[in-house]
Amino acid sequence: MMKYLDELNEPQREAVITTEGPLMVIAGAGSGKTRVLTYRIAHLINKGVDPFNILALTFTNKAAREMKERISKVVGDQEAKNLWMGTFHSIFARILRVEAPLLGYPSDFTIYDTQDAQSVMKKVIEEMNLDKDIYKVKQVLGRISQFKNNLITVRAYQNTPELIEADAAAMRPRMGELYRAYVEKCFKSGAMDFDDLLLRTNEVLTRFPEVLHKYQERFKYILVDEYQDTNHSQYLIVKALASRYENLCVVGDDAQSIYAFRGANIRNILSFQQDYPDAKAISLEQNYRSTKTIVGAANVIISHNKEQLDKTVWTANEQGTTIPVYRALTDADEARYVASQIFELQMNEQLKNSEIAILYRTNAQSRAIEEALRKRGIPYRVYGGMSFYQRKEIKDFIAYLRLLINQNDEEALLRVINYPARGIGQTTLNKLVVASNQMDKSIFNLLEEIPQYAGKLGINGPTSAKLYDFIMMIKSFQVMLQNHDVYEVSMHVAKTTGLIKVLKEDDTPEGISRLENLQEILNSIQGYVDEQKQLDEGDPSLSGFLENVALSTDADNEDDDGDKVSMMTVHLAKGLEFPAVFIVGMEENLFPSMMNLNTRQELEEERRLFYVALTRAEKFAQLTYSVSRFRWGKIVDSEPSRFLEEIDDKYLDWKNLNVGMPLNRSGLDANLFDDFSQVPRFEPKKKVEKKTLSRPEPVKPKPGLKPIGEAKITNQNNGEHVNLVAGKTVVHDRFGKGKVVGLEGDPNNIKAIIQFETAGEKKLLLNFAKLRVL
Ligand code: ATP
Ligand code: MG
Repeated sequence: MMKYLDELNEPQREAVITTEGPLMVIAGAGSGKTRVLTYRIAHLINKGVDPFNILALTFTNKAAREMKERISKVVGDQEAKNLWMGTFHSIFARILRVEAPLLGYPSDFTIYDTQDAQSVMKKVIEEMNLDKDIYKVKQVLGRISQFKNNLITVRAYQNTPELIEADAAAMRPRMGELYRAYVEKCFKSGAMDFDDLLLRTNEVLTRFPEVLHKYQERFKYILVDEYQDTNHSQYLIVKALASRYENLCVVGDDAQSIYAFRGANIRNILSFQQDYPDAKAISLEQNYRSTKTIVGAANVIISHNKEQLDKTVWTANEQGTTIPVYRALTDADEARYVASQIFELQMNEQLKNSEIAILYRTNAQSRAIEEALRKRGIPYRVYGGMSFYQRKEIKDFIAYLRLLINQNDEEALLRVINYPARGIGQTTLNKLVVASNQMDKSIFNLLEEIPQYAGKLGINGPTSAKLYDFIMMIKSFQVMLQNHDVYEVSMHVAKTTGLIKVLKEDDTPEGISRLENLQEILNSIQGYVDEQKQLDEGDPSLSGFLENVALSTDADNEDDDGDKVSMMTVHLAKGLEFPAVFIVGMEENLFPSMMNLNTRQELEEERRLFYVALTRAEKFAQLTYSVSRFRWGKIVDSEPSRFLEEIDDKYLDWKNLNVGMPLNRSGLDANLFDDFSQVPRFEPKKKVEKKTLSRPEPVKPKPGLKPIGEAKITNQNNGEHVNLVAGKTVVHDRFGKGKVVGLEGDPNNIKAIIQFETAGEKKLLLNFAKLRVL
């Protein structure tokens, strides 16, 4: 009956059956943290806990769906159905649908996605006549996001001189006003941005004890995956909800914390122990995901970070193959290599496309790779980037639907009031915005009475009539929604507004694909309606559908069918696993990113990101870098990533090191040369390329140098322990021959400073550097 418990190792089992009281599992990648959460939920239900009383917070909706499926297999569909499982945002949006009216929001509040928020902010900056080069939309919003995630309200901001001074020092003295104007605009539109979903949940739980009590009683068991990436606002919500029963289980890995830039904080892990001094802590050490080679290489990488909790990760899996590191000549060459390797993996290892992932640091890198995959006829899917719902034709259509639900949604209204074109000009719209602000009325409400105001606002008769017609059309949709199926109404909207017509008129390939997208979204509404009916959760609501749309994360994919290679940024890959993983663009200024080289903390975050990337791989990992790359509209030279140098050579298999480049490199693509043997060679200058196959001649140690310190190392020549002291001559696989000039670090983690004859001075960790002593 409890057979599933046999599918766990000892500490995992303990984490699953310790159902009462606070519990924290901090453990390395692939050690089964997510598996523990899944089995724990199944176990709770099996023990008789009502699924209704369980709340599980995951990083993506997709992760939640997958966990739910697994749980269904153990406890049955019926039981799993009532579980509350999803991202912080989707769960708390659901709660706010009920509670937001307490804060003055309509229960049908709109959720503004990043694009909407940017568009609102752009208007605010314009209305305040600020210099848009100083008040940059994204930067200002990033700052506001910081405030919100630290629960700094507009009022709190105004009462905090340090914040005001900091913004003044950053040349943005009017930050506080912007913050207020933005918040007011959203509020007036009955809209919340992503951060509001957390901020307002906190607010409602703090201000209304009876609401807090209700949800504490409801969620007697709370589980959080990827705990290392929760921000302060999320942390406080969890803490409040769990404070009554304290049946809180969090799992995470500090080495995989990759959202510091969004406010995630290792502090949350440390605070957990302070908040619950009696909390049980369980560590998992065995990795079930990856080969010994991959686990070994990943351990070496992360050991270069200073800030981390002590952890062991090992695996009983097979050794696996070494990790090829391909040196490409251009990004196109890199892409072509990846495509050819995918083909090989399919031939030699019988891997399916869906078992392969290509990870990159930035979305911009996907283009070249997509092209190479297309040429080879390899089907792929790009996650993130411009998602389906961000496309213009979809946003336009969705804006209409949003207006039906929340007519005060100004963002939506301004988007479609003159699309398809109705002869309503920008001047008219500007007048309306100003009047609406002055009268403290939403534009929609103002337009309902436009015949009365038109004269005063200087809007002529025909224009006024057009505006009024628009409002009447929206109202007719609202009426229809009261007694028609959501799909029928949506179809009617698409037709009546003229959207289908304008898209049909454009018969370019792009136009046709836009029309297909509109068809696709209508299909998905139909799908949603059918799905909700099956769940018999009452009548499917349009706002429910819109909420799914607004909160679909980049890692959620709409169509899950088909055997395709996955392409995504490393950030999106968190928590996932694939038999084969390519990590491309392993170059300085790209990975680590140029934006993150200023402080050690930033660099350590990049390194954690690389750790996340590599630990996604089960059997095959491959790394690639290019010595030149097309960036910012031109070809730039690039150097191999320092992370490559940090990996112990025994894990790597350097490829293509002595293939040269075309002499004329300005604008010339190396791929014009299909046969590399025809490419003129040149002597590589880069550090990593120093690796040559010939071993240096052994030389006699030079006596007479005073030791600065000493360390025991295992000589890679013969396995003997030797004392390494300054003055000793050593040979490193990659850097060649060098002389130890000093030792530093703590006794368990000694670094040797070595002056190599050709590679220059290096600091190497003795635990990892394979040195032979001469
Ligand atoms: P990450 O840190 O990347 O999120 P994780 O700690 O959540 O990793 P899981 O994804 O839960 O790790 O597990 C990694 C893989 O190992 C999964 O395929 C999982 O099914 C498998 N696994 C975990 N524990 C066991 C076990 N006891 N027996 C067999 N397979 C296991
Ligand atoms: Mg996991």
